[in-house]
Amino acid sequence: MPDSMKKLEQLLGRVRSSITCTRPESVASVQTAPTLDDYPEHALLQSMQRLYREEDGLANPYFQARRGALNGGLEIGDRQYVSFSHYNYLGLAQDVRVKQAVHDAVERYGTHVGAARMVGGEIELHAQLENELAEFTGFEATLISVGGYSTNVAAIGYLLDQRDLIIHDEYMHNSGIMGAVLSGARRLAFPHNDMDALEHLLGEHRRHYRRALIVVEGAYSMDGDLVDLPRVVQLKQAHGCWLMVDEAHSCGTVGATGRGVCEHFGVLPAQIDLMMGTLSKSFASCGGFLAGRRDLIDLLRHFCPGLLLYSTGISPANTAAALAALRLMRTEPQRVTRLQDNARYFREQAIARGMDCRTAVPGVPIVPLMIDNDGALKLMSQLYENGVVAHAVMHPVVPRNAARLRCFISADHEPGQIEQTLDLIGRHLGAA
Ligand code: PMP
Repeated sequence: MPDSMKKLEQLLGRVRSSITCTRPESVASVQTAPTLDDYPEHALLQSMQRLYREEDGLANPYFQARRGALNGGLEIGDRQYVSFSHYNYLGLAQDVRVKQAVHDAVERYGTHVGAARMVGGEIELHAQLENELAEFTGFEATLISVGGYSTNVAAIGYLLDQRDLIIHDEYMHNSGIMGAVLSGARRLAFPHNDMDALEHLLGEHRRHYRRALIVVEGAYSMDGDLVDLPRVVQLKQAHGCWLMVDEAHSCGTVGATGRGVCEHFGVLPAQIDLMMGTLSKSFASCGGFLAGRRDLIDLLRHFCPGLLLYSTGISPANTAAALAALRLMRTEPQRVTRLQDNARYFREQAIARGMDCRTAVPGVPIVPLMIDNDGALKLMSQLYENGVVAHAVMHPVVPRNAARLRCFISADHEPGQIEQTLDLIGRHLGAA
């Protein structure tokens, strides 16, 4: 491995604190203007830039702008690529009916809603989408907001405080963790999907706190496995907790008709206190939503800073795209079937080629292919040079020595694209 690569891998190891938790305190005796040199990420960025700039450096797969639409592939410059980096799960982002709905909404409402929803920024489409999302997910009520990430931060940050306890899966998305940090509640992580460990922590700590919230993902975004929903529901009931399930990756993809983990496990939505979803994946748009009991959703709608309060309403275009996508999801459930078939096929074919997919559940549209930590950047660039966009995820986003090529599957992928890509990955892994 070239020296520059080694240095880069070392630097990668040093940035974890800023991504997952608080930064170390800096102890400046002289008060000077802050510099970027204090940030380990700054050195990492410079090192990456050098790596990709060198004469015979690696092909840079980051921030590459595509020219046309996303389907199973995409175009960058004058070249066609197959993509496993996009969560356009149901292939609705380029659907003519979704695009037409966006055109119509912009024509009718203009490009923005004008204010926070409560004070003038409400458009008819907001309530339509919220009502139809409630019907689809099976919860009493929902609310939509401008971002998935900010939805988690705002809701968790608002609902709990210093007197409370938040227990989350160690692989919980950063937005959930940042919400917990914002809340000021005691935060504990349990080992991934280890329900016995969760039970143990609850037994030990629950009684010392006023409210307690368990936070899990429906389908885990790095591993493509599912929460053990029946067990976590049983634990939340036994220990008097709220349960929040982030269904960013499972809503629209998991369950016979894409209604998520409740449908998959046969659990009643009423047994979950708060479901979080994003509009930026299956829903071919951008934004976030929460679903739950009407009184809880009403409370959040009126008082949670950063959801509808102190923040502009989600745009007409984004609302219309999600609404049109949702309607297609309901009338064309074959998209979900095709997605799940593709995901199952990808995983099967990867395993048949000797690849390690960790705990990925068949049919879930995220499949990790475990790779050597040191070779991750190189592999990603080699694939890019060969017409495949698939991004590697390394520490600190995933645990040390658990680097992987994280592949998102789409209903748009053809079996041939899956086979050719896996052959190519297999050749490069074999040659590493
Ligand atoms: N939760 C999970 C599990 C995610 O993977 C993501 C982002 N991919 C989010 C929340 C944030 O959603 P958004 O991208 O819509 O901001």
